[in-house]
Amino acid sequence: MARNPKHDILFEPVQIGPKTMKNRFYQIPHCNGFGSERPLSQAYFRAMKAEGGYAACCTEYCSISPESDDTHRVSARIWDDGDIRNLSIMCDMLHEHGALAACELWYGGPHAPCMESRCVPRAPSQIPSDFEYLTYPKEMDKDDIRAVQKMYVDAAVRARAAGFDIVYVYGSHSYLPQQFLTPYYNHRTDEYGGSLENRARFWRETIEQVKAAVGDDTAIAVRISTDMFLGEPGTQLERDALPFVELVDHLVDVWDVNVSGISEWGEDATPSRFYPQGRQLPWQAAVKSVSSKPVLGVGRWTNPDLMAEAIESGKLDIIATCRPSISDPFLPQKIDEGRLDDIRECIGCNICISRWEIGGPPLICTQNATAGEEYRRGWHPERFEPAANADNDVLVVGAGPSGMECAMILGKRGMRRVHLVEAQDDMGGIMRWIPELPGLGEWARVVNYRKIQLDKLKNVEFIPNTRLDAKGVAEYGAELVIVATGSYWATDGLNGASHDTIPGADASLPYVLTPDQIMGEGKEVPGEKVVIVDNDGYFMGVSLAEKLATEGKHVTLMTHLGHIAPYMHFTLEAPNMHRKLHKLGVDIVPYHLPTRIEQGAVVAAHVYDEEGHEASWEADATVLVTQRRSNEALFRELKDVVGLDALRAEGVQALYRIGDCEAPRLIADAVFSGHRLAREIDSPNPEEPLPFKRERRVPDPADVERDVAELLERRAREAVSA
Ligand code: SF4
Repeated sequence: MARNPKHDILFEPVQIGPKTMKNRFYQIPHCNGFGSERPLSQAYFRAMKAEGGYAACCTEYCSISPESDDTHRVSARIWDDGDIRNLSIMCDMLHEHGALAACELWYGGPHAPCMESRCVPRAPSQIPSDFEYLTYPKEMDKDDIRAVQKMYVDAAVRARAAGFDIVYVYGSHSYLPQQFLTPYYNHRTDEYGGSLENRARFWRETIEQVKAAVGDDTAIAVRISTDMFLGEPGTQLERDALPFVELVDHLVDVWDVNVSGISEWGEDATPSRFYPQGRQLPWQAAVKSVSSKPVLGVGRWTNPDLMAEAIESGKLDIIATCRPSISDPFLPQKIDEGRLDDIRECIGCNICISRWEIGGPPLICTQNATAGEEYRRGWHPERFEPAANADNDVLVVGAGPSGMECAMILGKRGMRRVHLVEAQDDMGGIMRWIPELPGLGEWARVVNYRKIQLDKLKNVEFIPNTRLDAKGVAEYGAELVIVATGSYWATDGLNGASHDTIPGADASLPYVLTPDQIMGEGKEVPGEKVVIVDNDGYFMGVSLAEKLATEGKHVTLMTHLGHIAPYMHFTLEAPNMHRKLHKLGVDIVPYHLPTRIEQGAVVAAHVYDEEGHEASWEADATVLVTQRRSNEALFRELKDVVGLDALRAEGVQALYRIGDCEAPRLIADAVFSGHRLAREIDSPNPEEPLPFKRERRVPDPADVERDVAELLERRAREAVSA
């Protein structure tokens, strides 16, 4: 297919100082959990986007010194020659695809807890971090300022040596340069504090020094937050950001413009629950109005019409994407080829970000099961090897996210015939109703993308309105059987806090309900007063609270945890979720677990009350968001009752289960489960995942011998001096 001419503007080249981007697509700095210490995972991850058409790709935040150590989170690091070598692999691979490589030089100040390096971070003023716990910086004197500026210069020189085309002097998300610019962080009374000119001095000098150090063949990028949403003391657009842009515009080759500070950075990495795409555009346009340099900016861009409009209207020069590039590294190429219905659109769930917040590699993605798996499992998001056992028919029972993904990948791997059988009248499983929860409309893309892809596959047949029992499966005629029957919310209050059911919890009663019943079956929530028992800790309890409160119910949200939906802190949804529920008048009851549910009341005790004093909450209805259970009856019957021998006699060579049917987890994990099995359906034992490549140091025996000898010598010296 040909590109739609209205998208031509997206494929114009852009000059960034001495470098040229071949089009307007830029992968913004974003974390992936690989840093500099998993160099091949890092390189393959970024290179996939370059292969998919991105004209430039950046590292995540890249620490310039052990003083800027974000452990337990994973940043890139450019501290020494080893880091140069490791990051040069990424640069080389990007260059092979004709993309520019960018490095986001980062000094975190008080936001760097330095748990590995045990250094003391420096900052404009000695105020602890508003993001980390118990992280105090050292207040910088003039010598400190010169020392840290030299760190930027040295790191920039190393970045250039690694092969980076663009180096950042990164300030936004409340990092050091922007801390100097912002009265919230900068309480100084010397020439680095007070007036705008003084507060801008550190950043301006640092940009000047970095620019002088890297010469005229490396572009300088500056990433600035134009509004921290912190009121008077925070960075403000008119007072701080625009005058700063005007002050240093002559030094900068490209502006990277966003919003927010670090403590609520979900205002920038916006969950779709609260913001549509292009949310930052007014601030980006404001910078563009005072700058003579190209402006790039994020906005969770997935819609090429909106991208083209942002460029044509003069608000933006370069479409910068983070999450849409994770969800679909081939976004530019698909737009270029006019294959818009093949775009795997980001749903704005921020599960990718949750992994960084938790601190563990790799990044994962709800939509793209291959994200983070490019090197370690060798997975490509768009290419699939024909299966060695493609001459088989596969029966996939259940068309939820896992079953759809599995059927789609099996179809793309060329299986003779894939039969996707579903008891309901359409595909989607729980994802048919989850997008109907408040704010989650974009999550429907999980189903929509797969539906379109499945429809294109001639060897995949969708069979709705068909509930297969074990006999039906055995006699179906498929050689491979995959059960993907999902999960259900416990109807008896079974939960991970008490590891027990709740007396009186029985969802067959009219006043006790589960999420499946409310959203999937339309069971009426009786009365006005509703108690939601949430032992799950993610989106379901709070989403139902919002829905029912919006419908006029008086909602009490009770959890055994210290606060509601703690996982939403990792997805950056928590602050606005709290605001919303507070505004709706939802009562929050933390640290409580029901001891019994009665008609008209929920009786509960504080989880730390050793004497178990009970209190009662009026409840016309009680909603059980306690835990999910695998819907495994069919699988158990096939395996335990019919038995594998009897199945083999019917011609079934193998039986597998995937997704929530195996264990209820994140939607991303259910999708991964279906994808993984389909990728490995021809492995020696598809039930067991193939080992993935690990990037770890395996010491050379000679190194071990040398280190032990050194240690023994040291111990001997210590013994003598003692
Ligand atoms: Fe988008 Fe969610 Fe994937 Fe992140 S995890 S890229 S927000 S779909």
